[in-house]
Amino acid sequence: MATMITSDCINCGACEPECPNNAIRQGDPVYVIDPLLCTECVGFHDYEACAAVCPVDCCVTDPNNIESEQVLIERARALHPETQIGESFESRFRKGQGKAAAPQKEPVVHAASSTAVASETAAAPQAMTGTATAYAEPDVNTIQLPEIDSWEIPMRCFKCNETHVESVRNFMIGNVIFCPHCHKSMVVRDNLNYHIRTLLKDSYERWEKEQTEFADRREKELAQFQEKRAKEAQAFQAHQERELEKIRAQLDAIGDNYDAAGKPFKKGSRFGWG
Ligand code: SF4
Ligand code: SF4
Repeated sequence: MATMITSDCINCGACEPECPNNAIRQGDPVYVIDPLLCTECVGFHDYEACAAVCPVDCCVTDPNNIESEQVLIERARALHPETQIGESFESRFRKGQGKAAAPQKEPVVHAASSTAVASETAAAPQAMTGTATAYAEPDVNTIQLPEIDSWEIPMRCFKCNETHVESVRNFMIGNVIFCPHCHKSMVVRDNLNYHIRTLLKDSYERWEKEQTEFADRREKELAQFQEKRAKEAQAFQAHQERELEKIRAQLDAIGDNYDAAGKPFKKGSRFGWG
């Protein structure tokens, strides 16, 4: 069965980036899943990633589109030819045998019992409190490079074949280095000096650039993540407000239209039940 999205979708967009097959897109009026791209996450997870994050549980299996694990894994392989998906893969058909477990959704506050609902309809909507869990950013201990001239190079003497360790500071052009084992001398030529200097310079520059890019990327992703969560919360709150209105309207309708003993028939109606 391919997964489908029901009309309960609140368009929060949380599922879209989770899909390993890019099968989800914003539709009208709600998000939709392309069944030709959906593999029920077979090949990637042993759970359906969209269903795992959906705050209103509206990503469900489509009973009108039954597909076997074999069909789904073949689709995953066809969609991702660059990924070697072998015979051992994640699949909801093999739940628990894979590596990753479904992420835990934040608890959704369920409706109270019917009596409680009835008594609360007159009350103002409750603010969502107490369910948020603070996100703890893991510590990032980036490694700092040592001072550039603190490196050492193990040199093998071409005469006695023994190895001696020399500081990079000793590799100035024209400097003479003696083997401590056989006392053979070696003059540092410009090409050796150039090789060491450029290797260290390029490595240090690349290191610094990557570190800066990494920090910038994480900052940006965190800001996007927080913005997305804020939008999700807003959309969900709007959905709850609409639901609350619906409940109120339904209870109002009951109050207006109930059939009480002795209630006069509607004018013009031929039958008591008309
Ligand atoms: S079940 Fe998996 S593959 Fe299918 S739409 Fe959801 S996230 Fe994408
Ligand atoms: S996570 Fe659920 S509610 Fe949000 S867009 Fe996807 S299907 Fe709709």
